[in-house]
Amino acid sequence: MKAMLLEKPEKIEKKPLKYSDYKDPEIREGKVIVKVLANGVCHSDLHIIEGDFQLPGDLFPMIPGHEIVGEVVESKSNLGLGDRVGIGWFYSACGTCDQCVSGHENLCPNALVSGINVKGGYAEYAVLDAAYVSPIPDEVKSSEAAPLFCAGITAYSAVKRISPSIGDRIAVFGIGGLAFYAIQMIEATGAHAVAITKGHREVAEKAGASEITDRPEGKYDGSIVFAPNSSLVKDAVSSVKSGKTVVIPAVMDKIDVPFGDFMWEKNITSVASGLRKETRAVLEMAAEHNLQSMIQERKLSEANEVLADLKNGKIMGRAVLIPSSISNCIVTLHEF
Ligand SMILES: [Zn+2]
Ligand SMILES: [Zn+2]
Repeated sequence: MKAMLLEKPEKIEKKPLKYSDYKDPEIREGKVIVKVLANGVCHSDLHIIEGDFQLPGDLFPMIPGHEIVGEVVESKSNLGLGDRVGIGWFYSACGTCDQCVSGHENLCPNALVSGINVKGGYAEYAVLDAAYVSPIPDEVKSSEAAPLFCAGITAYSAVKRISPSIGDRIAVFGIGGLAFYAIQMIEATGAHAVAITKGHREVAEKAGASEITDRPEGKYDGSIVFAPNSSLVKDAVSSVKSGKTVVIPAVMDKIDVPFGDFMWEKNITSVASGLRKETRAVLEMAAEHNLQSMIQERKLSEANEVLADLKNGKIMGRAVLIPSSISNCIVTLHEF
C-alpha cells in the first residue's frame, strides 16, 4: 500500500514525510482492516513529526494520522465488510486499570495512540481495533467525519468541562478549526459563545458566535483557549469569573499566570481527547443537529504541503487527506 512514512522526527522542511510503498497490514483477532477514506491532519501530527514529543526509536518508521475514517474490507470481529468506522487519538485502552474500570478510558496509562504506537491514517489502509472504533452515521461524509475524531471530540470535551448553562457567556480564544466546532457546541447548549479574535472574525461569524470581540470584555462563565499562546491563557484566566474554569486543549510550551489572576477558586484544566461514548455523541450531533465543518480535501501524497500550510497558519478549518483522490492539486473548500 501507499503511505506517508515518518522515518525519523525532524523539521518538516528539512526532512519531509516519504510517500512510499509499505507492507500491507495484517489482520488479527478483534481487529478490522479499513480502506482509509479520509484522514484529518492535526496540529499534534506536526508535533510528532517534528520531534516535539519524546518517542522511542523502535516506533519508526511511523505512519502518522489519528483522525481516521475507513471502510471495513477485512474483519475478524463483529463488524461487517463495508461498515464505515473511525478512530481518533486513542487507538485502544487496556480495559483493566483503575482509569478504565472507573470509566475514564481516555486517561488509561497503557493506552495505545493512533499514529504513534500503531500505524495511523496517512496511508491507503489501516488496522483498527473493532472494540474502540465508532460507526459513522450515513448522513455524515467521510471527510466531514474524520476531523470529528480529534478536533471535534476535543472541542466537545472542552465544552463539557465548562458545562455551560443557558445564558452563560463562554469566551473562546484562538479561532480556528477547533473553535469552529466549540462555538457551535456552546451555542447549542443555550449559552453564548464569545469569540475573542483579532483576525478571524469571519470564522467566528460562520460558526454562529453570539459575540465577537478583539479583547475580553466583562467577566465570563468559562473560557477555552485553543491557541498555544501563554498570553491568551493569562487573559482567559483574568477574565473568567471566580470559581469558573479555563480549559486549555492546546499543546502549550509553558503557562505563565500570576497567582493573583487565578485566586478565588478559578480552575485551569486540559482535556485528553474523549471517551468512546462521547465520540459517538459528537458523530450523532453532526448527523442530527447539522454540526457544520470547514474542510479542505487534499491528496494523501500532498501531506507535506498540507503540514507546511498548517505550520504557516494557512489552514483555517481542517485539512483532510483523501488517499483515493486522483485529482491533481484540486483543493475544494466545503463550508456547510
Ligand atoms: Zn489531533
Ligand atoms: Zn486502562
